[in-house]
Amino acid sequence: MSNKISEHQTLEIIPTQTAPQWAKFRKEMLKSFPSPYRGEKDSLADGINIAVRELDKLKPEKNGGSAFLGTNPALTIDFDNVKNSFLNPKMSSSEEVIKQVIKLFEGLPNWGHPLTMNNVNPQGNTAAIIAAILSEIFAPNILEGEYAWNIHQAELESGGILANLAGWESKKAGCVYTYGGSGCWTYHLKYALTRVLPDSRNRGIRTDAKVICSQQAHYTMLNSTDWSGLGMDNIIRIKTDIETNAMDTKHLEEVLKDCVAKKIPVASVVCTMGTTDANAFDSVEEVRKLMDKYPNPKGYGKTLLYCDSVIGWSWIVFKNYDFKKNPLGFSNEVLPYIEKNYNAIKGIFYADAFGVDFHKTGFSPYISSAFVYKDAKEFESLLSRGQSAYLQPRSPYNPLNYTLEVSRAATGSLAGWATLKFFGHEGFQSILGGILENKVYLKNQIAKKSEMVCVNPSDYGLVTLLRIYPEGIDAKVQFEKELCDKNFREDLIRHNKLTHDIGDKLFEWFRSGKKINGQCTPCLSFSTGFRSAEYNRDMEDKEALIYATKMFPMNVHITPEVMDHVLDCIIAARDEVMNH
Ligand SMILES: *Cc1c(COP(=O)(O)O)cnc(C)c1O
Repeated sequence: MSNKISEHQTLEIIPTQTAPQWAKFRKEMLKSFPSPYRGEKDSLADGINIAVRELDKLKPEKNGGSAFLGTNPALTIDFDNVKNSFLNPKMSSSEEVIKQVIKLFEGLPNWGHPLTMNNVNPQGNTAAIIAAILSEIFAPNILEGEYAWNIHQAELESGGILANLAGWESKKAGCVYTYGGSGCWTYHLKYALTRVLPDSRNRGIRTDAKVICSQQAHYTMLNSTDWSGLGMDNIIRIKTDIETNAMDTKHLEEVLKDCVAKKIPVASVVCTMGTTDANAFDSVEEVRKLMDKYPNPKGYGKTLLYCDSVIGWSWIVFKNYDFKKNPLGFSNEVLPYIEKNYNAIKGIFYADAFGVDFHKTGFSPYISSAFVYKDAKEFESLLSRGQSAYLQPRSPYNPLNYTLEVSRAATGSLAGWATLKFFGHEGFQSILGGILENKVYLKNQIAKKSEMVCVNPSDYGLVTLLRIYPEGIDAKVQFEKELCDKNFREDLIRHNKLTHDIGDKLFEWFRSGKKINGQCTPCLSFSTGFRSAEYNRDMEDKEALIYATKMFPMNVHITPEVMDHVLDCIIAARDEVMNH
């Protein structure tokens, strides 16, 4: 022990008058690296404390503050000159740099503000944020055991918890945390291609295998098929039901039958489990049955079933919830919503793998996505590339042998794991159910106003979509006509434009600090086509689409009073747009 310390002391450079300049800078730098020893004055803990407090000063006052950080709403980047940048000749200090970092947060949307409702952008919970920050300090690397040591428990245990929620045998399952829902999609595709086209690992993809997903599938299917080299043309889109937006399994059957007849292999079928606007869930059980009925031709591996559940996954926490006794006391109106979402998501049981975004419905910071697979032995051996020469296995768990990434930060896995540990079933159930309580309140308020109509009333998801019409128009009657009757196409397009203008006005107000009822206005967004008109099911007509104002009451600071205020703001924005 004493040996170690004296070794360190001799290594430390003590500048004297004759010491070279580099040694002086190095000594100066010591202040801005964390001390490796306990109890010393450490710039890190103090620095984090100061920085977080400084960042907090950008938050608005409790009543009346706007939903972005700081006071300057403008985008201040000088885009013409920003790249005209050079490395400073002089050294700076970490304090100075952190001041500059904090300045960059000026104007950023404040995801925790009760008036922020623009997307599935939840505020991260404190346990997850702190866990993520801690992972940056000692930088565990979950490429393999030696560099992660006990920290890789976070990934292993997350895999176990998520697999158990899916109803799988958790010992045989696993997960890798990766770069987002897009990363999960890419992982599934790699898994599928390796399974179905075993030659592809060495020879590359030489066969136009197909990836089948619905018209509601996320556009990241383009990223994955493009970057994998499979090619975007190999995606087959299955029609969706106009009401539920779920995959039309009759159409899927036709496509699978056709592939079998033409001896075309199918790499994977993707069930989309929850979409941003339409809350569409595909029926995994039915899809599995069809896949069993139409296997790939001889010479190819078995088609993979992937659930892109990165938004919808968390409803699975209602597993074992007693919907009759309703121990958490959800309202009678909300209870069937929850039950319906749970019944939709539990189909992930039939999948080979599913995706989880903790940064969406897991209330965690970016990026914390887990790709969860049922058969760890298969996945890990199919993708295994063998041992690296310069790393020695020091643990039974060495994912670098099969992951896309080599070095992998533990930030996401610690954030995800911390959230699972913090929330438990109860916490998840309460936070998700609470969003629906606010949403249902909002829906009932909309129903009382003749100028507005909720256009996704039978949707059980987190978002409320509404259309507001000029004063004097009965919104419910008018919308029904625009939705179903081609004679009202011009009206539909005119009111789409109104919706668009209101959306732009609200964004302008949000940024400019406009006040209504003495409070700032919300950060909302709008959809330029969350569905098509009934007579335009094939979407041939690019304009006969339904625009709508969107509200995602994701964060825990939102109350019914806030929802009332938001409706007042939408009405005021409509009046402003109509009068100019
Ligand atoms: C958000 C989303 C993705 C992409 O996920 P990222 O985390 O943004 O990379 C993929 N699929 C669905 C259904 C999504 O909602």
